[in-house]
Amino acid sequence: MGQSQLVDKLRDLARNLWWVWQPNVIALFRELDPDLWHKVDHNTVEYLKRLPTEQLERRATDMALDSRIDYAFRRLSEYLKDTDSWGAVHASILRSRPVAYFSAEFGLHESLPIYSGGLGVLAGDHLKSASDLGIPLIGVGLLYAQGYFRQVLDAQGWQQELYLNTNLDLLPIESVIGSDGQPLKIAIETATGVLKAKIWRVEVGRTTLLLLDSNLPENSESDRALTARLYGGDARVRIRQELLLGVGGLRALRALGINPSVLHLNEGHSAFATLEMIRAVMESTGLPFGEVMRDVAGMTVFTTHTPVAAGHDRFPAGLVEEHLRKIREGLHLSYDDFMGLGRVNSGDHNEPFCMTVLALKLSRYANGVSALHGVVSRRMWRPLFPNLTEENVPIGHITNGVHVQTWVAPQMSLLFDRHLGVDWPRDQRLPETWEGIETVDDAELWETKQVLKARLINFVRTRLVLQARRRNEPDAAVQKAMEALDLNALTIGFARRFATYKRAGLILQDVARLTELVKSTDHPVQIIFAGKAHPEDRMGKELIQGIVRMTRQEQFFNRIVFVEDYDMNVGRSLVQGVDVWMNNPRRPQEASGTSGEKAILNGTLNFSVLDGWWAEAYDGTNGFAIGNSLTHAVPSVQDERDHRSLLETLTNQVIPLYYRRDASGLPRDWIARQKKAFRTLAWRFNADRMVMDYVRHSYLPAAGGVSCVMLRG
Ligand SMILES: *Cc1c(COP(=O)(O)O)cnc(C)c1O
Repeated sequence: MGQSQLVDKLRDLARNLWWVWQPNVIALFRELDPDLWHKVDHNTVEYLKRLPTEQLERRATDMALDSRIDYAFRRLSEYLKDTDSWGAVHASILRSRPVAYFSAEFGLHESLPIYSGGLGVLAGDHLKSASDLGIPLIGVGLLYAQGYFRQVLDAQGWQQELYLNTNLDLLPIESVIGSDGQPLKIAIETATGVLKAKIWRVEVGRTTLLLLDSNLPENSESDRALTARLYGGDARVRIRQELLLGVGGLRALRALGINPSVLHLNEGHSAFATLEMIRAVMESTGLPFGEVMRDVAGMTVFTTHTPVAAGHDRFPAGLVEEHLRKIREGLHLSYDDFMGLGRVNSGDHNEPFCMTVLALKLSRYANGVSALHGVVSRRMWRPLFPNLTEENVPIGHITNGVHVQTWVAPQMSLLFDRHLGVDWPRDQRLPETWEGIETVDDAELWETKQVLKARLINFVRTRLVLQARRRNEPDAAVQKAMEALDLNALTIGFARRFATYKRAGLILQDVARLTELVKSTDHPVQIIFAGKAHPEDRMGKELIQGIVRMTRQEQFFNRIVFVEDYDMNVGRSLVQGVDVWMNNPRRPQEASGTSGEKAILNGTLNFSVLDGWWAEAYDGTNGFAIGNSLTHAVPSVQDERDHRSLLETLTNQVIPLYYRRDASGLPRDWIARQKKAFRTLAWRFNADRMVMDYVRHSYLPAAGGVSCVMLRG
């Protein structure tokens, strides 16, 4: 193979995010220059730009990497051409007209910072599984120039938010070019001027993601900054972002000649897309609003993620009119009738315009993201369906799942290759696939997990050193960070958004008891915390500060630690390396949660409140439960009960099971539980199963329903 050809192949590999879930390709990139790989935060585009070509070629030859590069490139080409997919058989009617999947954020990899947390990671995992399964689906989102903030903590443990400008030249994105050779743009007319955006394209395996970007010279200064930050602005910024996502997103698809058969709204942010769809069909067919609205609702799938009433996006009618008046006129609706689309009581002028209400009124297929969240959503939105009983409210559920190959550690994946059969990724949704885990030798599973734990401890120490240096702590303190954590201690991970209902401080409430647990000479416990608080959330920041203060107390020092700047990289290291993944939200406020699903794949046991996905997953033998399924109406009482249960379960179940060793030093009962978790959970809580559920229960019926729009059009 010629050298320049080799570099071209690496560039192609770098520009399709397929590599993100290929451990062999990741290893290939890393081996070219491990230090630089780390420095660029695993950004393949920046990496290749900073690696001088001759050095790259020399390394590739020295390390005999050229045949591996060739092989990786061939695998990508074959993957892209593969026609023998599940989707080719089961979703062929989507082939000519794909699903359009709208989301305000997409978490695909830490180097593409257009996500804040769970919602985005779920959307990213959805695209990856759609690609693996060969489902014709196209993602629509926004390109945030600064992404979500980077978190650093000051000497007092107070969260500071850093907004760094992303260098777009260093992202795996391509500008979409129109037939005139110029960047393709879309425009939206509002009462206060025209808003324009250009379009970027990201390749995610066989799936394409389109990202709208308002940073154009022809926009006003404030509009240029519209897509700067994720969830960054006031109501006006938010409605303009959502206008861009929904209306702009649909126009971008149309500008590219894509006529989707299904609109999938991942959360209500993008619900304006339905109105734009109706407007466009009315314009081309001349049919009346009511009829077209029924057809468009018939092609729309809405996934709600918010079990808390206050968490749903709501806008004052004036803001809605300012931004959607043109569209309203296209729909031939009066002001009142239009506003009614976003109100539970259509005629109630005092009700703000709610994006979730709009989405529910304009989608025939609505779902929550776990069985329990389905129940909660039906109860919450019952007032929208006054003639139905609660159980008949048309909101079902499809439980979230995670993209297995993104979240499983390479070492664990190798173990699967040998014991589950090499086709396990393709057959991951079948229970039989995971039965092979019982044939893994206990010692081998344990050692694999120890390797992952050692890697995590290394990772955390490096981060703690960096954190201490940044705070200008004395050298002695920086040195001490290199001794943080103990490979042999039971290690609990807790990483999530610091929203109040997630109760990050629950385990810390009884300092005396916690001291006993941490300081125990024969059965010690250690905890790794990570997570961001929303910039406006004082209470969340106080929670973080409280934890950081505890980490500095003598008895907890280097045994309870806080890793700053939780992102997909930190998340991956944590779920792969810790022994126990703890989650203690105030039930039933966790719609699903997915981090615990990532844990399963790595032999990490869940220790969680029976909320979200865990409420339907826990069977008494595949992890640990905090509390029971009862909820007390008074939150402080519930908190007290859950705190007691957490300590009881930890003391009476988790710790004894972990430390009970046989003559060879193995915790046999613990390992049995890890295997039980793999076997009972991995086939259910993965994104392939989730996407297939969407195809069968939502996409296919929705695509069938919409053909009438087309026929008439
Ligand atoms: C998986 C993930 C989440 C979502 O996890 P939850 O269980 O919902 O808390 C959030 N942030 C990151 C970075 C993740 O990787």
